[in-house]
Amino acid sequence: MKSLNRSIVLTTIRSHGPISRAEIAKRTALTPPTVTNIVGELMNENFVVESEIGASSGGRKPILLRLNASFYSIIGIDVGVGTIKSIVTDLDANVIHECRRSLPPYPDADTFMEQLNGSIAELLEAVGPDRPVIGIGVGMHGLVNPEEGVSVFAPNLRLRNIPIRESLEREFGVPVYVENDVVAMALGELWFGGGQDVDHFICVNIGEGVGAGIVLNRQIFRGSSFAAGEIGHTTVDLNGPRCSCGNYGCLQTLVSGPAIAEAVQNEIALGRRSERLESAAAGSLRTITGEFVYKAALEGDELAREVFRKAGRLLGIGLTNMIHTLNPQKVILGGGVSAAGPFITEPLEETVKARALESSIRHLTIETSRLGNRATAIGAVTIVLERLFAPAQLAE
Ligand SMILES: [Zn+2]
Repeated sequence: MKSLNRSIVLTTIRSHGPISRAEIAKRTALTPPTVTNIVGELMNENFVVESEIGASSGGRKPILLRLNASFYSIIGIDVGVGTIKSIVTDLDANVIHECRRSLPPYPDADTFMEQLNGSIAELLEAVGPDRPVIGIGVGMHGLVNPEEGVSVFAPNLRLRNIPIRESLEREFGVPVYVENDVVAMALGELWFGGGQDVDHFICVNIGEGVGAGIVLNRQIFRGSSFAAGEIGHTTVDLNGPRCSCGNYGCLQTLVSGPAIAEAVQNEIALGRRSERLESAAAGSLRTITGEFVYKAALEGDELAREVFRKAGRLLGIGLTNMIHTLNPQKVILGGGVSAAGPFITEPLEETVKARALESSIRHLTIETSRLGNRATAIGAVTIVLERLFAPAQLAE
């Protein structure tokens, strides 16, 4: 109970600071002596500082408290396919330093952990000993067991059963939390992005694969075996291409970055002409990437735009299925493919509007993540913040 009260007080100071002790007691329904004790503890530990003097309501002017956000720091890591993006931030998720390391296509477990350790070591050095790191959050591609901090299966890296938490805690001696990357992204949106003002939303990551983080009643919904949100493996075309999961016509076989690149490659192989894409490919169609296609679309290439339109429509179908199931207020799009902007979002929104029941989309908005390509890393920082602060509902 003591530690719950402590995080409630800390959360109240974070949300409503600068705030007086009396006001904290009023908002939390804790007794003034309890608040004074907890605040004393939090000040000793440098989580909270006294700031300016507040307005008096008759008697002595109260001293106001605020979060000492810059005293400690937090590391957030986004493990994707090919890259580890990591950041170190203050307690308000302001980025102090950023680091990027590449991963070979199918790293073995040792190589993978070396790169992860190397990223963290670089950030620790950048932030120095004066701003102690209180935790490390990892947003990991694939299926994760967050209770054990284990990467159970990372299909696009071909890694299985990596005890990330155990290994990093041994190496760095601070608490480590591991979540699936899109779950982390959804947490980041909940605290710092487009999810701040809604109760129910879906965060969809469209990159090398496709996955969704589901937030219901401002809580992450993980499912019974941490596998909720596998929207990438919902069927949108019964006769579609074979997916890595063994099924046919899964959404991610049609709209992921590699799927978009492949669609362009196939069209050109079949005789479709595109000067821009062919010259970018420099003789080998396999070198065309989703990014090439986006650049070509920007320059007005008709084939590139057509491929995005089709992907946008299929994504709209996949999302409509999810919208009909969950009736969210918001869908937040993230990941590399969402960076293609209107080329993909316009056909997507048209499709949702045309196919969804009016009652299902009455309160719906669809937007692109404001946290951009840092969304998952910020989300990983948020995993640590979530442990420090109380759920907002308890601190209102
Ligand atoms: Zn599949």
